[in-house]
Amino acid sequence: MKNSAKVVVIGGGVVGCSVLYHLTKLGWTDVMLIERAELTAGSTWHAAGGFHTLNGDPNVAKLQQYTVELYKEIEDKSGVACGLHLTGGVMLAGTEDRMDWLKMAHAKGRYLGMHTEIISAEEAKKRMPLIDEKHFVGAMYDPLEGHLDPYGTTHAYAKSARMNGADIVVRNRVLELNPRDDGTWDVVTEQGTVHAEHVVNAGGLWAREVGRMVGIELPVLAMEHMYLLTEDIPEVAEANKTTGKEVITALDFEGEIYTRQERGGMLMGTYEKAAKPWSEQETPWDFGQNLLEPDLDRIAPELEVGFEHFPSYGNTGIKKIINGPFTFAPDGNPLVGPIRGLKNFWVACGVMAGFSQGGGVGLALSNWIVKADPGFDVWGMDVARYGDYATLAYTNAKVRENYSRRFRIRFPNEELPAGRPFRTTPIYDRLLADGAVMGESYGLEYPLWFAPKGMDAKEVFSFRRSTDFEHVGNEVARVRTSVGVMETSGYAKYRVTGEGAETWLSHMLANKIPATGRMVLTPMLNDNGKLIGDFTLAKLGEGDFLIIGSGPAEQYHMRWFEAHVPATGVRIEACGLNLVGLSIAGPNSRALLQKMTKQDVSTGAFPFMAIRKMDLGPIPAVVGRVTFTGDLGYEIWVKPEYQRALLDLVLKEGADLGIGHFGLRALNSMRLEKNFGTWAREYRPIYGPYEAGLGRFADLKKNDFIGRTAAAEEKASGGTLRLIAFKVDATDADCIGDEPIWHDGHVVGWVTSGGYGHWVKASIAMGYVPIELADKTDGFEIEVIGERRKAHPIREALFDPKGEKMRG
Ligand SMILES: Cc1cc2nc3c(=O)[nH]c(=O)nc-3n(C[C@H](O)[C@H](O)[C@H](O)COP(=O)(O)OP(=O)(O)OC[C@H]3O[C@@H](n4cnc5c(N)ncnc54)[C@H](O)[C@@H]3O)c2cc1C
Repeated sequence: MKNSAKVVVIGGGVVGCSVLYHLTKLGWTDVMLIERAELTAGSTWHAAGGFHTLNGDPNVAKLQQYTVELYKEIEDKSGVACGLHLTGGVMLAGTEDRMDWLKMAHAKGRYLGMHTEIISAEEAKKRMPLIDEKHFVGAMYDPLEGHLDPYGTTHAYAKSARMNGADIVVRNRVLELNPRDDGTWDVVTEQGTVHAEHVVNAGGLWAREVGRMVGIELPVLAMEHMYLLTEDIPEVAEANKTTGKEVITALDFEGEIYTRQERGGMLMGTYEKAAKPWSEQETPWDFGQNLLEPDLDRIAPELEVGFEHFPSYGNTGIKKIINGPFTFAPDGNPLVGPIRGLKNFWVACGVMAGFSQGGGVGLALSNWIVKADPGFDVWGMDVARYGDYATLAYTNAKVRENYSRRFRIRFPNEELPAGRPFRTTPIYDRLLADGAVMGESYGLEYPLWFAPKGMDAKEVFSFRRSTDFEHVGNEVARVRTSVGVMETSGYAKYRVTGEGAETWLSHMLANKIPATGRMVLTPMLNDNGKLIGDFTLAKLGEGDFLIIGSGPAEQYHMRWFEAHVPATGVRIEACGLNLVGLSIAGPNSRALLQKMTKQDVSTGAFPFMAIRKMDLGPIPAVVGRVTFTGDLGYEIWVKPEYQRALLDLVLKEGADLGIGHFGLRALNSMRLEKNFGTWAREYRPIYGPYEAGLGRFADLKKNDFIGRTAAAEEKASGGTLRLIAFKVDATDADCIGDEPIWHDGHVVGWVTSGGYGHWVKASIAMGYVPIELADKTDGFEIEVIGERRKAHPIREALFDPKGEKMRG
């Protein structure tokens, strides 16, 4: 065994082998894969081998499409057969809601260049003769579905990598990972130590154990999963004869079943409701290529439905039942990328659909290692989407929930209950008592909307406008006419201090540093000049800054900050819930603030984008004059021990000014009325600041900053896309995000976010279109639940286009 390599990949499952292959494709050939047992010896060998392109996140769907299209390449290169059966497949809808969901998935796929079809139940029966069509209302057909041989595919990746120069060492467990001072690693194995510049954890079933070698707890959990193989079925032979080909794959959402042909019979698997975790605390190192004890009773309810929906299955014997474990992250998407605080340590784990996603994961991670950028929008699978709150027990609750709901619809207004409430702020119970309907983000409870007294604080889940509509409208009206209060603790808050803070921030952020007592909005760019953050930056004093950003991106941004912070002179800290807040907004908000403080808060004394320390009643606070509602408003930041007193004070002093609560849904409605974009929707690392309409917040004339050269080029060329807002001729359903934007009969972009502007009484959507179309005034349509609706570009915000209320 060699004693050094540029990269050591730990784990010879389908994911590790894909990473290894992609590294070599990018020209890094001094790379090595170390496998504890044999290739495929983790969860890979007993997989059912199915693949598909469908994913709730279109960016992940795109990587799945890439994976499926890659198999031919590795087969041709290596000469090892992947056992590819590209049969195509149907996704069967048993309800109208599911049909709506499929239409939306089909619409999303259009922008990605996928060729799915929406078909009737009768047509589905023609293509998949084993179904009883009376249980279905329709289906979606996807030509890029099928199944393969997991063993052959993994070996095809491995041999292709070897042919490009990679080393693979099997029967050699990695025992320890020891960092050196220069950021490289000593990989201690049973056969000796390898010195590596980079280490990749592709440990699959043992990814947690490999993580623990470097002191981290990865949010992954293995679940038991069963599928069965039937004896030969006469109807299968018949279908093969009449169609002249193999029976296509099928996914039956109502039965929670996937199925495909296996020789003369069928394979049928299910994600059962009675989900069972495996090795919850620790995966034993001596777990070999073993199967787990099947438990037919656990999957009996799903099988019963399956036998009704696929009647011929019920008339045949079961040849074999496979029960094996494989791993999931809390949301079911992979965990990929570098780990905050660890140099040159990467993960590619929690991949629950290795044969749909393995190629895309390998490509993105290799790009990231070699070129310092994944090359795609990988937020949906970035390991940094989870913070320290994602403990073993939290992960356990969420993974079980996700597994048991794998084939269920998640409605856009549906919040999932497992593991909640978990992170809460001091006013959580007070907000509940006032009717708050809570959502969760980054583990934290926050109010979505408030049910009026006497109304059950529950909502009907729907793709269409729902029970909250009227009440959210009332919250918006309150803010637009008097004053509302909202909890803002869920934002990420960073304190940057030290003598070097100002110089460093000016290098990290695109806008100029504000004067003391002032704030600016500022994008943060990566080296390619793409958006990796949008912040409010406040200068509280010399060497003392507060940054406010997106809550779920806290770990993501801290990873970037810490990777760039100098060893001395600058301290950066994520405040988390050590700093909590309330926002007051609306025309009466100044009068309310004035009632709470002795300081002069008239607009002359405390103008728009000013920030200062202020006692509110007895409460020490930092107050900034800014709000995302686009109205007059303030953000108030306090230590958590004061938040209850602050809420009391705001509600008491605001009583005669018309105060009331508002939640995130009202905020979203109001920010859309102002065409304000938001992180992870309009602002993502695939867009540049000029494309996103944030160019005015990038100061190219100040000192050099990360991404400046690329941003200047984008400014000169104009970039390729433009973010624009639309008024949509929608009736009972608004855009929620990811809907295709059409122009003159062609799909030209997708919606980044949408909703109803309650004050301006318009359905609004935002999205990117090619720059050549940015100035067109007509010809646009947006597909809302399968129907193309006329969409009218809005050049000026529908609410307060001159910003007079905000600044006044
Ligand atoms: C019953 C069943 C059916 C499935 N059906 C499908 C399907 O139809 N389609 C699909 O896409 N997916 C399916 N899967 C999931 C699929 O198997 C996984 O997505 C995939 O195997 C994940 O691959 P991996 O490389 O991440 O992990 P693994 O296959 O677990 O590989 C990890 C490897 O790392 C090695 N390793 C770990 N620690 C060390 C160490 N310290 N030193 C050296 N080596 C180490 C292990 O020995 C192992 O070989 C199924 C899984 C099961 C159990």
